[in-house]
Amino acid sequence: MKEIIMCYQGEMALKGLNKATFEASLAKSLRWRLRALGEFKVYKAQSTMYIEPQDPAADAAMDEAYARVQKVFGIAALSRAAVCEKEFSAICTAAAAYLAPALTAAKTFKVESKRSDKRFGMKSPEISRELGGFLLERFPHLTVDVHHPDLTVMVEVRDFAAYVHADKTPGAGGLPVGTSGRALGLLSGGIDSPVAAYRMARRGLALHHIHFASPPYTSERARLKVEALARIVSGYTGSCVLYVVPYTAPQEYLRDHAPAPLFTVLMRRSMLRIAKQIADEIGCTALVTGESLAQVASQTLWALACTDSAQSLPILRPLIGMDKTEIIETARAIGSFETSILPYEDCCTIFTPPHPKTRPSLEEILAAEAAMPELLGLEAAAAAAVDRVRVSMDAEQAEQEELL
Ligand code: ATP
Ligand code: MG
Repeated sequence: MKEIIMCYQGEMALKGLNKATFEASLAKSLRWRLRALGEFKVYKAQSTMYIEPQDPAADAAMDEAYARVQKVFGIAALSRAAVCEKEFSAICTAAAAYLAPALTAAKTFKVESKRSDKRFGMKSPEISRELGGFLLERFPHLTVDVHHPDLTVMVEVRDFAAYVHADKTPGAGGLPVGTSGRALGLLSGGIDSPVAAYRMARRGLALHHIHFASPPYTSERARLKVEALARIVSGYTGSCVLYVVPYTAPQEYLRDHAPAPLFTVLMRRSMLRIAKQIADEIGCTALVTGESLAQVASQTLWALACTDSAQSLPILRPLIGMDKTEIIETARAIGSFETSILPYEDCCTIFTPPHPKTRPSLEEILAAEAAMPELLGLEAAAAAAVDRVRVSMDAEQAEQEELL
């Protein structure tokens, strides 16, 4: 039996004139996300995106394809459906065969029908009633419950065919990646920054990531962990580039010359200046961080004000109003938590002073920077030595497995 995936649009259905652009982006995301699995045809009809496997490899990969599509932003709900002729007897046969496992497991069910092809001879209530009767005969243990059924059998009679499926499952929501622009995410090895990246991608941003590494204080494994996190996020954003900045020299310079209580804020400013430089080079017009108000000394309102003024790109902080417990919940849901808690050091946690200032003023920060004349040069050298790592969910999973 021919099986397809149907994707129902969410918020983007409201986008009026932009709708065509949004749909084109969504189709492109879907094609890219599925291309390694086999040949799939992706097209739109009647505000629904259809994904049809075209070769045996694609047929065999439908479970993985469905899992991948569930992570594509811009889709409110989706279902796997059997395709059949627009004939009532064919619909009955398809429903009984395709949904047999679900019908066997359920105790109660109902049928819902939608007939957008008005040339089809039976009206929706009639399809539901007749198909319900047919299924009751085939699966006599079932009873009908129109309010809270275990299973809803859905029939859609559309332009090209009829489709039979069970309840839709929720999609990833949000807007197709790329429709809101492109940003550079600051990715540490922690819990917060992958969640921040996920959140902004969900609002339609295409993302690349930047990571600051300070070997030998930070290890190769810490870097691999960040690559693994970028790969997890790429399940939502599509392939991306991770820019790894060798940050040892600026960081040692700060350690040796910065007033200790201001060290962390000065380092954050330094990182953001480098991030802006890379962002400009690759056409990213915003930075994303995992900061959350008052979570640590460098995330107080005063510290954030000092960080903001280090460079001119907007800094998006989607976690700013979230509790750690909420952030962890999302990290678990997107599958980054287990990797984030692996115990490899981040460069942000080395050299940190015991008593960071929670209310730094911009004046004292600027004065401290004025007393470190070599800092900008070291930052420029670090930016120039950046390492570009392509990250794709289709790449070798070996490193990640080795880490876990
Ligand atoms: P996370 O859990 O994401 O590490 P955190 O609560 O540990 O966050 P900080 O270490 O102060 O907070 O970092 C705040 C934000 O700065 C991070 O969310 C991330 O966006 C960015 N950041 C921190 N360290 C690095 C790094 N080594 N490379 C790139 N970005 C970093
Ligand atoms: Mg951190």
